[in-house]
Amino acid sequence: MNLHEYQGKSILKSFGVAIQEGKVADTPEAAHAAAVELAKETGTEWFVVKAQIHAGGRGKGTVTETSSRGVVLAKGLDKVKDVAAGIIGGHLVTAQTSNKGKLVNKVLIAQDVYYPGETETEEYYMSVLLDRSSGKNMIMYSPKGGIDIEAVAENTPELIFTETIDPALGLQGFQARRIAFNLNLSGMAFKQMVKFAYKLYEAYVGCDASMFEINPVLKTSDNKIIAVDSKVSLDGNALYRHQDYAEMRDKTEENPTEVEADEVGLNYVKLDGNVGCMVNGAGLAMATMDIIKLSGGDPANFLDVGGTADASRVEQAFRIILKDSSVKAILVNIFGGIVRCDRVAQGIVDAYNNMGNIDVPIIVRLQGTNADEAKKLIDESGLEVTSVIQLQEAADAIAAVVA
Ligand code: GDP
Ligand code: MN
Repeated sequence: MNLHEYQGKSILKSFGVAIQEGKVADTPEAAHAAAVELAKETGTEWFVVKAQIHAGGRGKGTVTETSSRGVVLAKGLDKVKDVAAGIIGGHLVTAQTSNKGKLVNKVLIAQDVYYPGETETEEYYMSVLLDRSSGKNMIMYSPKGGIDIEAVAENTPELIFTETIDPALGLQGFQARRIAFNLNLSGMAFKQMVKFAYKLYEAYVGCDASMFEINPVLKTSDNKIIAVDSKVSLDGNALYRHQDYAEMRDKTEENPTEVEADEVGLNYVKLDGNVGCMVNGAGLAMATMDIIKLSGGDPANFLDVGGTADASRVEQAFRIILKDSSVKAILVNIFGGIVRCDRVAQGIVDAYNNMGNIDVPIIVRLQGTNADEAKKLIDESGLEVTSVIQLQEAADAIAAVVA
């Protein structure tokens, strides 16, 4: 589950990670009020107003309606309201969004931590993630952080460093010091960075994150090390342990069909192809996507209908799949183990008749318990549904239909 910057920062702060302080607002008036409060707490009246969307590249991005950037300085309390008005309610287009951009519902009013001068500050990159090849956690970092980190990775990969961390041992002292060393720090800033890395790693483990990306981590002109940005993804499988984080979910940022599928308990992920897939079991669903690809088709989605593929369930799945207008055909692949194939076949026939508006060809492959009865049931239903027993046959048929 992805979080907004302000939510990620609140988690970081709760674990003792130093952050750029700020307050969130959803109207220009609230933004002004937030700035007034913030000025009292921090003693500064220079602010930065930051669009809160689930996408990076906001600093370079543009709000289509007003041509404002997604991250804008407001040098004075009197500026905040107008700056916020240029961002809230608009669509922010960045390198990480679609051409339409993302609607901005909230802004973060943060203290300008680069004050008094940008010459004395340094921006670093730091992320914490799971390194699947070593099965360990990893801190990735660079002395050249900031908005051009992609170019750094591309042109000067030697400036991207990593520390691999054994989850049983945690971040070791020498590793934290090596991070500060590779970031060319000394004195007070060195100590601050060691502490920052420790706390950040503790936060990553403590909140069951799947990824942290802090870009930039800032060295302020008075040698403090703080998180200016936060991209936090939490492991959805661990959310049951963190009710307070689960409440941070912002469904408006997610694909609406995926949200709807989730609400009816279907495991659906939208993809870019045109072959709709309905499969029971995640492993079989992945194998189905593979064979569609190998046969020359392109899956439009991943969909696991789970164990109880009855008529209402199949109907829900058809409705979800058909919300995607690029779907040109549907492949249903059901293995009848616990669920009997004839029952699923009846579900397909009922759902088809019930919906009455399915206008794409459907190829059904049922295998396992009562597969022959199931095929007979579909073949005799008189519907525009083709049934097959072999998966390869199904994949070839579907590829021919969408070719
Ligand atoms: P992103 O573009 O979505 O990654 O958003 P960031 O939060 O990283 O902000 C983008 C850039 O805005 C940063 O790399 C900074 O250079 C700049 N920025 C962020 N906060 C401040 C601030 O308080 N003062 C100044 N002067 N610049 C800031
Ligand atoms: Mn950033």
